Amino acid sequence: MTPADATTVSADLFSRAQQVIPSGVNSPVRAFGSVGGTPPFLTSAQGALLHDADGRDYVDLVGSWGPMILGHAHEPVVEAVRDAAGRGLSFGAPQSGEVALAEEVVSRIAPVEQLRLVNSGTEATMSALRVARAATDRDVVVKFAGCYHGHVDALLAEAGSGVATFAMPGSAGVTAATARDTVVLPYGDRAAVSALFAARGGEIAAVITEAAPANMGVVPPREEDGIGFNRFLAETAHASGALLISDEVLTGFRASREGYYGVDGEGWTPDLMTFGKVIGGGLPVGAFGGRKDLMGLLAPAGPVYQAGTLSGNPLATAAGLATFAELDETAYATLASTSRALQQMVADALTTAGVPHVIQNAGTLFSVFFREQPVTGYDDAKMQDTEAFTRFFHAMLDAGVYLPPSAFEAWFVSTAHTPEVLDRIADALPGAAKAAASA
Ligand code: PMP
Repeated sequence: MTPADATTVSADLFSRAQQVIPSGVNSPVRAFGSVGGTPPFLTSAQGALLHDADGRDYVDLVGSWGPMILGHAHEPVVEAVRDAAGRGLSFGAPQSGEVALAEEVVSRIAPVEQLRLVNSGTEATMSALRVARAATDRDVVVKFAGCYHGHVDALLAEAGSGVATFAMPGSAGVTAATARDTVVLPYGDRAAVSALFAARGGEIAAVITEAAPANMGVVPPREEDGIGFNRFLAETAHASGALLISDEVLTGFRASREGYYGVDGEGWTPDLMTFGKVIGGGLPVGAFGGRKDLMGLLAPAGPVYQAGTLSGNPLATAAGLATFAELDETAYATLASTSRALQQMVADALTTAGVPHVIQNAGTLFSVFFREQPVTGYDDAKMQDTEAFTRFFHAMLDAGVYLPPSAFEAWFVSTAHTPEVLDRIADALPGAAKAAASA
């Protein structure tokens, strides 16, 4: 089968999908809008491999955008979910898995004293914001350009991820009042943060930041005079009575065993943190947590309402717990060496083909920018050769490697990316690098 024939079933499904689902997808980046072409419709996945409706398989470097850190259909996780399913799909009442999952997170992440489970990262950040506003009795939220915190109204301005992929300034449908309460600053710009707090410190409820931005590509926070950007934000916010929300939906339990906080958490403490992805092992889970006094503001004890029919779902907590059970230091050492090996392979191939690039990482997470100079923020991230990326992406896909379909996304490895799997990527890279070079 030629690649053109091979996409027939996916192409048919995509055209059917477009009749009944906007743009044929339930989350924008999946539509391949910025890279063009038909997204493969997947039928199954196992380990590091994806299988599509046309009988092709791909080495997966998306990992469902983060959750599949142990690889797909990992037997102990599947078994835990099967077992839980046999005991009931949803109770809408307390169950022990919720307690165990919250205990696991609290034991790993020092600033998290209490935790609520929700169903997505979006819900987590939305709820954390509400708590921060209630705790401070202030309205303004500060975010950074290129950071993505889910599709929360207040957090879509100059957001990363799909908002960046499609070069959208924000989203229609967000009220002017909501937009007015969000201040967007350039990532890493301490002078801008200080100036804003000097002028409006008394109005600011919280600063929210990705612990290490990874939705404009990976842009690790930088130190200045021995003080990391996260610590600077915590100190600046606290000096004005504002809170710091550290969003670890993507980095949590991936960048290290303790998330990016485990890499960078020296001398600062976020007030609230948000999680998602890995915490649910592939089922829909998010979480927000932090200081006990702040989490105590939640209903029914406190005045901040937050709830969910499926929150703390027994299948989801079973998947999360089974995933955590394997995420020990050995697993992180494997992820780190796999990630390093892959970065080196990509760098070698692109260098050999003469393709300008820079690879940046945060813990085991990394991304590849198609430009020469380091990326320190969203303006830099936008200045890359996205056409070279598109050629690279399609050549990789044709050769059986499934990359994130956007130059603004991190690449995700799993513990199932064995040396044999890496060899398949190595085979694909030289041709793809050549394609990227051929303008
Ligand atoms: N915060 C960050 C840092 C994220 O990366 C994401 C999703 N990529 C979200 C929040 C939103 O999570 P979800 O897609 O589960 O709503």
